[in-house]
Formats: sequence, structure tokens, C-alpha cells
Amino acid sequence: MKTKLCLLYGGKSAEHQVSLQTAKAVIQALDLDKYEIHPVFITTEGKWIKGPQLSEPVQSIKELEFQDEKGKAPNDLSEFTLSKDGSYDVVFPLLHGPNGEDGTVQGLLELLNLPYVGNGVLASAAGMDKVVMKNIFAQAGLPQVKYVWSTRSEWKADQEEALSQVENEIGYPCFVKPANLGSSVGISKCTNRNELEAAFEEAFQFDRRIIIEEGVIAREIEIGVLGNDYAECSVAGEIVPKKDFYDYKAKYEDQDTALIIPAEISSEEYANLKAMAIKAYKAIDCSGLVRADFFVTRDGRALINEVNTMPGFTPYSMFPLLWKHTGVEYPELIEQLVKLALDRHQEKQ
Ligand code: ADP
Ligand code: MG
Ligand code: MG
Repeated sequence: MKTKLCLLYGGKSAEHQVSLQTAKAVIQALDLDKYEIHPVFITTEGKWIKGPQLSEPVQSIKELEFQDEKGKAPNDLSEFTLSKDGSYDVVFPLLHGPNGEDGTVQGLLELLNLPYVGNGVLASAAGMDKVVMKNIFAQAGLPQVKYVWSTRSEWKADQEEALSQVENEIGYPCFVKPANLGSSVGISKCTNRNELEAAFEEAFQFDRRIIIEEGVIAREIEIGVLGNDYAECSVAGEIVPKKDFYDYKAKYEDQDTALIIPAEISSEEYANLKAMAIKAYKAIDCSGLVRADFFVTRDGRALINEVNTMPGFTPYSMFPLLWKHTGVEYPELIEQLVKLALDRHQEKQ
């Protein structure tokens, strides 16, 4: 019997296009003798559109962008939610950012009692919120940069107070980020008060809560983690952005950001990062997968920057490449994730 796999992709976030590319790559990698593929496309307006079962791999992402039916309300999930009775064995949410990677979709799948790939509600939500994530990491004893946070209401009430808190506790350079986002959207580096003020305004465009961090000069090293209660680490990789920092454009548009795999670090450094990656994984109770991102400063300090609970997943993204260098090819990686999803579901019953 084939496994009925529902692919959920697209979505309202800035990573809509990336998600489509990933969906195409995943479909091409799946063995159609083993899997029945049921695509569900989420439009940029947030409509869920069920496509026909795929009997052959798609050649272009156009084939995955199903057309809107007239008269449907935005966020209409009925087509999807009504099809729970045995229609799918497992769901693979290939969604990044808010409304996809943040626990909301995971909550829906929990309510439908459907097994799904990747992190559960708690890990997804905690991993998406940089303030909550850092607070939990601090509690777990993981070293990180200094940070403070602020809400839009506090900012409106007393801008001077908010700015001087940063200057007193963090200083320059600092990074200002929306609490709940990814892909570097809304992030600014600041070296003076004018920039800081503009950065607050910018970040509050995207979220009602922001985080301000000490800026460090550091190498950016990443490790892939795979598993449920027992998790394993990939080799480490390094990102070398050609620009000042790894911003949205560098992530998705420039071709010249170098990914160096395996990263040139000592075996002691690698062992330390691996231990930190597993600690972070356990701290927010991850399952399936996570990409743990670190800063390694010039004086050799390793700091955790963040975890991404649904990391970029095209065959050219860091996470799949890390596993390829560890000996797990893309199709095998997908198989393992599906198995981990089914195992976790079983364990919960
Ligand atoms: P996202 O979740 O959007 O990827 P990150 O926190 O990883 O957000 O920040 C994006 C990029 O900005 C990082 O990859 C790094 O290049 C730079 N950056 C973020 N925070 C800092 C910091 N505290 N010090 C130095 N560089 C930073
Ligand atoms: Mg992130
Ligand atoms: Mg990041």
C-alpha cells in the first residue's frame, strides 16, 4: 500500500516562492511507487486549494499553483479539513515563517489527528519567537549574545526610555529584529541612535514585539539535527555572506553567498557545537528536524543565534546539503522525516 502524503506549501509569508520551489523538489525526489502525492496549495491571500493527486513529478512550479475557485472565503480550510478520514497518512508542511512554521498549522493538524512532518506546536511556536526562544536557551545555560526586548505599546509610550535601555544595556553595534519572523525580514544593524530609531520603526512594521541584540563579529556556523527523542547531528556548515550580514537578498537572491561544508573548525569546536545543538533541540522539545545556527567569535566563543524549525529545504539549501555531506541524500532525508512523523504520532496515541 502506498503512503498517502499531503504536501502543504505556498502560504502567506515572505517565503511563498521558496516554499513552491521546495514543493517541486520534494515531489521530484519522492518515489511514486511508494507515495501517493496529494498537493494542497496555500495562496498568498491564505486560501487553501486542494489540487489533484499527482501521478507523475511536476516539471515546473506553475503546475503547483492551483487556481482560485470563485466565491470562496479567505482562509477557507473546508476542502482540507473535510478530507481527514483516511485521505492522508501523513502531512508534510513545507511552510516557513508565520502561519506555517510557528505552530498554527501544527495545531490544526493536531486537531485533525493527522501525523505531520517536523516540529510540534510548542517547538514551532517557541522557535519562531526570538524572545521566548532566547529566554528558554538562557534557562538551559546556552551561551548567547546579550539581548533586550520591547513592545510597540512601550515604544509609543516612551521612545526615549526604549532607546536608552538599548544604549545602556546593549550598546552599539546592535541588531534590531521583529520577534516573530525569519528570512532576515525587518532586521537592521545599527551603529548610532538615528539608525536605532529607524530600526525600531522598521521592525514594528512586522511585529508588535521586537528584540534588540548585541552585534558580534563572528563566523556563522550551522548544524542540522534530525530525530525525535533521540536526535543526531549533521556535519557543520559555514555561511559566508558577501555583504555586511546575511539579509533577505543574500539568502534568496544573491548567488554569491558561499556555503562551506564541512565548515573548517576543529574537532573540539565541532563537538561543542553539536552538544549545544542537542541542548537547544531538547530545550524547546523539538521533533523531526531543526537547523541550529551559531556565531563563533574571533576569540573562539560559541554562541547560539537561533534554531529554525522548518529550515530552507530545497536541495541547495543548507539543511539538505549538511545531511548530504553526512551521508543522507535528499530522497532518504525525506523518507526519514516521514518515518519520524509517523513514529511520533504513534507514540502519542
Ligand atoms: P532570521 O531568523 O531572520 O534568519 P537571524 O537572527 O538569524 O534572523 O538574523 C539574520 C542574520 O543577521 C544572521 O544570519 C546574521 O548574519 C545577522 N545577525 C543577526 N543577529 C546578529 C548579531 N547579534 N550579531 C551579528 N550579526 C547578526
Ligand atoms: Mg530564523
Ligand atoms: Mg537566521
